[in-house]
Amino acid sequence: MAVKLNNREREEQKVKSYKFIINPIAGGGKTKALLPALERIFKEKGAEYDLYWTRARGDGIEAAARAAEEGFEIVVAVGGDGTVNEVLNGIAGTEAVLAAVHGGKGNDFATAVGMPRKIEAAGLALLKGKTRAIDLGRVMDRYFINSVGVGFDAAVAERVNNGVRFFKGVSAYTYVFLEKLFAYKSVEAMIDIGNGPLRSVPLLVAVGIGQAYGGGMKIVPDAIQDDGLFDVCVFDDSISRLGLFYHFPKVFSGKLKYVKQVSMYRTPELKLQLSEPRPLHMEGEILFGDSMHFTLEPRAMTVLVADPSRVNF
Ligand SMILES: [Mg+2]
Repeated sequence: MAVKLNNREREEQKVKSYKFIINPIAGGGKTKALLPALERIFKEKGAEYDLYWTRARGDGIEAAARAAEEGFEIVVAVGGDGTVNEVLNGIAGTEAVLAAVHGGKGNDFATAVGMPRKIEAAGLALLKGKTRAIDLGRVMDRYFINSVGVGFDAAVAERVNNGVRFFKGVSAYTYVFLEKLFAYKSVEAMIDIGNGPLRSVPLLVAVGIGQAYGGGMKIVPDAIQDDGLFDVCVFDDSISRLGLFYHFPKVFSGKLKYVKQVSMYRTPELKLQLSEPRPLHMEGEILFGDSMHFTLEPRAMTVLVADPSRVNF
């Protein structure tokens, strides 16, 4: 499909150069299949671009940092949320703009910036999208742009990441969810959102700039990406296992916040002290810790927004 550009678009296009950081194994290898369509669109439009295929976990950070140094204006993560997080950590603090394309499995950040799932539409959105500055989060010496979960949800993510025999995709999540439902042990926590520490035993604490994680789980459904505040969900572990089994699926519709044991907060900073280390999942990355200090830099990251009417600003 040939699309004619007007002069202004041609002019805008001239000043942009794109570096694609592609995770070839994201989404069970489906990411690779997206490239021919993307390249065709970029060639048709005469856009300047270059490709880099990641080779190992963490490799995307270096590659993205190099791309920013070389003067690429837009660095595009092609893969899952883990790929986005690596690119983010490579370019945070530089002039480069962060963009994302849904990999085979989908990508919560790409959804948060209104990126279409169809690859042809995504390619055009990369060329014609607008830039916006959104909030940048930091915890445990790493940046995040969408969300972090500590506790039960992270334990599920960690187990799924490490591979589940016989199960894949959604069924792996369901299987691990049921397993962790009974096996996960919450620990005591001190949570400080600026008015002194609150003692509780949270099943999970989620800290979000965007609204969803884990492939569309709306854990902080009212989050705004550029308001200078984290939306925080604290799910207290005073719920029965049967209650949790019944209520947790409400996370997909954003209705988990109405459950009695769930409290929502807004804060620019959060300190979390756990009595024992627990997993933290950050956009595909799993870390462990007992002391976490979440800080936010307002509108510190420029991102490419496909359709400004579909994002939460
Ligand atoms: Mg916010």
